[in-house]
Amino acid sequence: MEGRRIAIRGAVQGVGFRPWVFRLAREESLAGRVRNDAAGVTIEAFGTRAALDAFIGRLRAEAPAAAAIRALECEALAPQPVRGFTIEPSRADSVARQVSIPPDLATCAACLAEVLDPRDRRHGYAFTNCTDCGPRFTIALDAPYDRARTTMAGFRMCPQCEREYGSPSDRRFHAQPNACPTCGPRLSLLSCAGADDAADPLAAVARRLVEGGIAAVKSLGGFHLAVDATSPAAVARLRLRKRREQKPFAVMARDLAQAETLARLDDAERALLVSAARPIVLARRREGAALAPEVAPDGNPLVGLLLPATPLHHLLLRAVGRPLVMTSGNLADEPLAYDNHDARARLGGIADVLLGHDRAIAAPCDDSVCRVIAGAPVVLRRARGYVPRPVALARPLARPILGCGAHLKNAVCLGVGDSAHLGPHVGDLDNADTTRAFEESIARLERFLRARPEVVAHDLHPDYVSTAHALARPEPVKVGVQHHHAHVVGVMAEHGLPGPVIGVAYDGTGYGTDGTAWGGEALLATPAAFERVGTFRVIPLAGGEAAIRQCWRVALALLDDAYDGAPPLERLPLFASLPARELDGVRHMLARRVNTPLARGIGRYFDGFGALFLNRPRAAYEGQVALLWNLAAAVDEGRAYVFDLDGAAPLPTVDLRPSVRAAVADFDAGRPAGTISARFHNTLAAATAALVRGAARRHGRLPVVLGGGCFQNPLLAEGVLRALGRDFDVRLPREAPPGDGGIALGQVVIADALTRGAA
Ligand code: ZN
Ligand code: ZN
Ligand code: FE
Repeated sequence: MEGRRIAIRGAVQGVGFRPWVFRLAREESLAGRVRNDAAGVTIEAFGTRAALDAFIGRLRAEAPAAAAIRALECEALAPQPVRGFTIEPSRADSVARQVSIPPDLATCAACLAEVLDPRDRRHGYAFTNCTDCGPRFTIALDAPYDRARTTMAGFRMCPQCEREYGSPSDRRFHAQPNACPTCGPRLSLLSCAGADDAADPLAAVARRLVEGGIAAVKSLGGFHLAVDATSPAAVARLRLRKRREQKPFAVMARDLAQAETLARLDDAERALLVSAARPIVLARRREGAALAPEVAPDGNPLVGLLLPATPLHHLLLRAVGRPLVMTSGNLADEPLAYDNHDARARLGGIADVLLGHDRAIAAPCDDSVCRVIAGAPVVLRRARGYVPRPVALARPLARPILGCGAHLKNAVCLGVGDSAHLGPHVGDLDNADTTRAFEESIARLERFLRARPEVVAHDLHPDYVSTAHALARPEPVKVGVQHHHAHVVGVMAEHGLPGPVIGVAYDGTGYGTDGTAWGGEALLATPAAFERVGTFRVIPLAGGEAAIRQCWRVALALLDDAYDGAPPLERLPLFASLPARELDGVRHMLARRVNTPLARGIGRYFDGFGALFLNRPRAAYEGQVALLWNLAAAVDEGRAYVFDLDGAAPLPTVDLRPSVRAAVADFDAGRPAGTISARFHNTLAAATAALVRGAARRHGRLPVVLGGGCFQNPLLAEGVLRALGRDFDVRLPREAPPGDGGIALGQVVIADALTRGAA
């Protein structure tokens, strides 16, 4: 007989880990115990050496899909005369705050089989779950994660459910949201309903959807608005009522087989679609897919696909028999509706029927959005299924730190010890409602982690709502963090890089230390400091903010600069469609340099080129023209345009004026937009590689990190990887969004570095 103490760290609580350990120990005929503790899970096991070795091997190899083991440490233990294997109750005060609330988990195969089995007592039951699946973060009211501290507290388990919950060999042992049709939550129609409808709300909603109606559906993290994705009229009506003109809608398919009929998927995309997080996956739409064109009316060739995450979604998709548009339950820029009352008030005018239920959502959480880049997933919008799982920090924080994030696509981050917890995507902080959601998101993280920040980090931009919030908070220590430094350090943090690195941060705009807008920056960076080692030539933004949606203004500025004030407007159809007065006004501004703040964002180059060569003067939503310019690129084009770069200058600056002229010449020669776009991407990749190689000559061949919203673009990210080749260790954002949704993570790590030792 021998003994082992095995300490496991990582996301191992609330994911069915202890019952799984219990079953494994029994199969290997081991005695001992398992318990949750402050660091994760600790096992004490006794048996023969062979059985212990087999057990430890299986712990490493077979962990539940939703668990993420960060470390497994083993030490010898004197044998003890224990009988059998037991799961010890965890004492609330010993449960680690950081790991006590897991993310929501998509319905597992075993639960789905029960829901679909007419002989099972959970047949057709929309709230079926077990220790391997079900709601977690979105029903949690407080920590530690226990039924009494979730919105399931009011449901008293029936004897059968109680038995499952109490039996260590059962799949539902300590499944906090355990429920059945007898004792658990129920569906109901929140809008007025006939007697037939009320008897079977799900069937009633499915019927309306088949008829082309709009349904509001209470899902895991909030309400969705659903329509038949194959019906042009239904999708068009939803656009009108939701006031969303062009931005593509996500589509839910009933299963992977149906998803394959809608998009061309590779293995990485398939794996992501069926993962426990069940994000929206951006994939290439299949030609001839049975989808209404109104799902993406702007010609976007991608489709955002997701699979059912809950039994309710599985049942609904099966009842409707066709893919459904599933978009956030809100009007235009409002936050997500997540309680029944609010949904009635705000979605009543949009939806024809509202499907609700009596299990409250405690923490609103949008669907996450992912894309496969360079063969692996990148989380573009981080929410349901990922939050509040922390990013593990290589160096523990000296004190708890709050990062307030950026202004657009805001997400906050609360870092405690060696864990940085990004909150769910909040959205753009443009109105009082989203600002309230932002404040609630901070308060919820503080409550769940039982942590009060001692340092508050914020962007340097004085007009961001998140900056104003940070400055108004009571904590005495505030740290302003440069936007692109935060992009770079966020990527360093998730890869455990201590720095220095050569960081490349490309986005639309971010406040520079000189008060101007930056966005095409190469930085030599550590968490404590950065130095700019490369940038792009400035673009005058005629009319300031107005130029961001009116991309033609940027196009004009690029041409004006490239042709020394004599742009060949007659050669480009873009300008023929614009009112002469407006055009003259902007030319005047550019010539006189009035109301033309200077900006450097790579996103602006995408806007300008897209406007010029796709003949799209305006973006219908933020980043639309840039996105379409990316998507226009032909795949098999290898050439690039020439650009200028003075490597000996104090701040090497890429000058794309020769590229603009070459692109116009291509256009004159009748080359398609796809070719010009591909060459533009290749040019940026080559320019980036030149900046990085220049920095490496001066500062050494350091690791390279790529951050900022422009690296949501696979063509650019993969192009830079290719251009740098094997000479460099290049890292992409994976776990935290490349765009401003990942900023708060970098803010936390930088604020720690800057205030360390100051206290
Ligand atoms: Zn399950
Ligand atoms: Zn029950
Ligand atoms: Fe940014």
